[in-house]
Amino acid sequence: MKVLVINAGSSSLKYQLMDPHTREVLAKGLCERIGIDGRLTHKIPAKDAKYEFDIPMPTHAEAIQAVLNALLSEEHGVIKSVSEIDAVGHRVVHAGEKFASSVLITDAVKEALEECIPLAPLHNPANLTGIKACEQVMPGVPMVGVFDTTFHQTMPPKSFIYALPYACYEQDKVRRYGFHGTSHRYVSQRAAAMLGKPIEELKIITCHLGNGSSIAAVDCGKSVDTTMGFTPLAGLPMGTRSGDLDAGIMEYLMNKHGYDMKEMMTILNKKSGVLGISGVSSDFRDIENAANEGNKQAALALEAFQYSVKKYIGAYAAAMGGVDAIVFTAGVGENDAITRYNSASGLEFMGVKMDQQANKVRGKEAVISAPDSKVKVLLIPTDEELMIAMDTAEIVGK
Ligand code: AMP
Repeated sequence: MKVLVINAGSSSLKYQLMDPHTREVLAKGLCERIGIDGRLTHKIPAKDAKYEFDIPMPTHAEAIQAVLNALLSEEHGVIKSVSEIDAVGHRVVHAGEKFASSVLITDAVKEALEECIPLAPLHNPANLTGIKACEQVMPGVPMVGVFDTTFHQTMPPKSFIYALPYACYEQDKVRRYGFHGTSHRYVSQRAAAMLGKPIEELKIITCHLGNGSSIAAVDCGKSVDTTMGFTPLAGLPMGTRSGDLDAGIMEYLMNKHGYDMKEMMTILNKKSGVLGISGVSSDFRDIENAANEGNKQAALALEAFQYSVKKYIGAYAAAMGGVDAIVFTAGVGENDAITRYNSASGLEFMGVKMDQQANKVRGKEAVISAPDSKVKVLLIPTDEELMIAMDTAEIVGK
């Protein structure tokens, strides 16, 4: 079976053609500058080959067509006919409370996603544009929507409710939704496989630490709490996002400096997080280099980030009444041994014992806790595309 996985942004579109059963990635790539001029980067992992083309892409339809042409091309293609693509899986950011799992895309589903646009005004329109472009260029091929929010739909009301007037939830849909759901679901399932236990018997804390970061409490395979909230601005400090914050700070700064709401939100989304504290960069590699050279703000940014991860690990162990495994994933979680170590050390009181030697690993599945650690600490590279392809195969297979 071959599934085309699409992740459409406002001016870019990532794709992977893969077999969800063998997990082989046949081709993958990126369309950029859609609506500006158009550039396609196409890769064939089996040949370790990379191709770059300038192709006019006034809309996403031309971008999808360029992807299909690349997949079909005699020189750098991997299929002979579009009919070899059995289904398309779309990453969609927000499904509100509409769906609790991935779904086959129908007109009703598209309408439901349109209704969710106010909840994700930057992402959902681009995701929908990607879906419509595929329908235009590949009519009749079944499509599946896989949402960032749905994994967290199992959260109980006590986790997702904000302590605001109840009408804010009932009428305005203001609640914790959570994001990175496909990643938290994938790594929690892999953790169960690595531990050789049914996920229904495990309490897992999954730490997706990248440019955007979130932690989830996964009890018996179900998300019961997560750090991101109504938007992806909440929770941990991130590359450039503030994470949790006293809302009163906004009023204070807006009054003091005369910021309007747009300026305030730009500060919170683009100028805060580890970039804001360090004043150096949003990239942990740059911050670590600066800290090693004696930059105190850079050291503080790392410390504040690691402290926040540790605090949520403790909170989620309490929320679940225990923890069997802690998982680190995404750019920082997969590559940054120091951040992993500092975030999960000092937790011996709750059965977590890191192993400095075992933790010296990057980008591959590994147990990084000591052999006698009651709680297993795992490094698991995330694979959202594979999860999307697996969901798509399962739903289309039905
Ligand atoms: P992601 O959003 O998951 O793609 O993660 C991207 C982030 O991972 C980058 O901004 C870096 O901060 C971080 N990262 C990637 N490689 C490393 C590394 N070797 N050491 C520390 N941080 C890294």
